Amino acid sequence: MSATPLSHDLVVVGAGAAGLWVAARTAELGRSVLLLEKTRRAGTKILASGGTRCNLTTTLGSSQAALLFGAPGARFLAPAFRSLPPDALRAQFEELGLATLEAPLDKVFPASQSAREVRDCLLGRALKAGVEVRYLQEVQAVEPSSTGTWRIRLAPAGGAPVILECRSLCLCPGGRSYPRTGTTGDGYPWLEELQLELVTPVPALVPLTSSADWVHDLTGIARQGARVRLLDGTGRVLAERTRPVLFCHFGLSGPAAMDLSGVVTRGEATARRARADPPSWRASIDLVPELSSEELRHKLIAVGAAAGRPRLLKALGPMAQEALPRRLVRAVCGQAGLAAERCLAELKKHERHQLVLTLKGLAVPIDGTRGWDRAEVTGGGLALSALNPRTMEVNAHKQLFVCGELLDLDGPIGGLNFQAAFATADLAARALAKDT
Ligand SMILES: Cc1cc2nc3c(=O)[nH]c(=O)nc-3n(C[C@H](O)[C@H](O)[C@H](O)COP(=O)(O)OP(=O)(O)OC[C@H]3O[C@@H](n4cnc5c(N)ncnc54)[C@H](O)[C@@H]3O)c2cc1C
Repeated sequence: MSATPLSHDLVVVGAGAAGLWVAARTAELGRSVLLLEKTRRAGTKILASGGTRCNLTTTLGSSQAALLFGAPGARFLAPAFRSLPPDALRAQFEELGLATLEAPLDKVFPASQSAREVRDCLLGRALKAGVEVRYLQEVQAVEPSSTGTWRIRLAPAGGAPVILECRSLCLCPGGRSYPRTGTTGDGYPWLEELQLELVTPVPALVPLTSSADWVHDLTGIARQGARVRLLDGTGRVLAERTRPVLFCHFGLSGPAAMDLSGVVTRGEATARRARADPPSWRASIDLVPELSSEELRHKLIAVGAAAGRPRLLKALGPMAQEALPRRLVRAVCGQAGLAAERCLAELKKHERHQLVLTLKGLAVPIDGTRGWDRAEVTGGGLALSALNPRTMEVNAHKQLFVCGELLDLDGPIGGLNFQAAFATADLAARALAKDT
């Protein structure tokens, strides 16, 4: 089957955050670029991001931001984040006419709070730079030709399959998370065909599930600054986050729970590979993080000794800096094995000890996550060792570049994942402009 002759210097697959960025930047640097998108529109995930407000980057410095991807991720991202640090990314958006604002948890949003503006800004930039964008173009396979070019097979649109040929190819089809936005893991078989190492993709930044009824009864209660630790079945602490957490009808959500979810999904994947039973976890929520256990014990004694013989239900709520709602106090008492109507002063030493333990570590059993449909990103992907971190070019294949979520990189909530998508794309564009 013959391929259509080379018409562009570069073909980019996927018009998401990374694809739009690499296409626009490479075109601005003087190359001709064709951008292929499977769906009817560009940047669907951008539109859905940040609760449709798009948390596009972080206020953190480049090294601090990179460290949030774990040690191997930080090493890999160092050149990309040095080349396009979060403040420079923000400045570029501002230059493109998109004002930004800072928000709690180190987040940066468009001042309009509109994800659509971010998408329109990126797409407008690409079109202005001369990028040709083709929609409803589903790439099915990519392969190197014997003449050193790349061949791209598109899904047939009625007639015969279409084969495109190009000198440079940049893969930005995203991962498998939130498949309704168009990201259905299409890139993984391409990498496997090219004999590239793939780290098992798992859902990440996804709410945690718990089958405990008492947890469901707390639906709607949020703790803004709780310290949440994730423990395995033996009680070993696997990870920890101090960020908001939200009780839901299915378990736990909010940044703390979602940031910890990758540990759960990776544990599930390991157990599946070993054909072992699914592991068990528990989230331990410190509801009074501002006090040590000893300080809390003293406070319980002091409050218990106050006039009026306060009952647990009334006394415990105001004891935390972030007051505990009554429903939560009842749950804490229940988990500590104490009746909420008991007088605080009446507690025996071991009961007070149990209460301290529960307030400092409310144990929520976790049985899994809400899976791919609710995951904001994908953990796993193309092994970082397969690429040059200064160019995003694949070591084993000349003129093949990979950016964004298809890489084995996932950061916590807070604009880090867009930062990684844009920064990896920016490095690739610089390399492509030099080399093409
Ligand atoms: C609900 C939600 C909220 C989020 N909020 C934030 C946030 O506020 N801040 C943040 O930093 N991150 C956020 N993320 C994560 C962020 O969206 C991703 O990290 C980012 O979009 C990854 O960019 P990408 O370009 O690699 O992939 P994507 O943006 O997913 O783009 C991939 C594109 O490739 C296309 N494609 C796929 N397969 C093919 C194919 N075979 N042929 C042609 N095209 C194809 C897809 O249709 C898609 O348009 C959120 C994610 C979700 C789901």
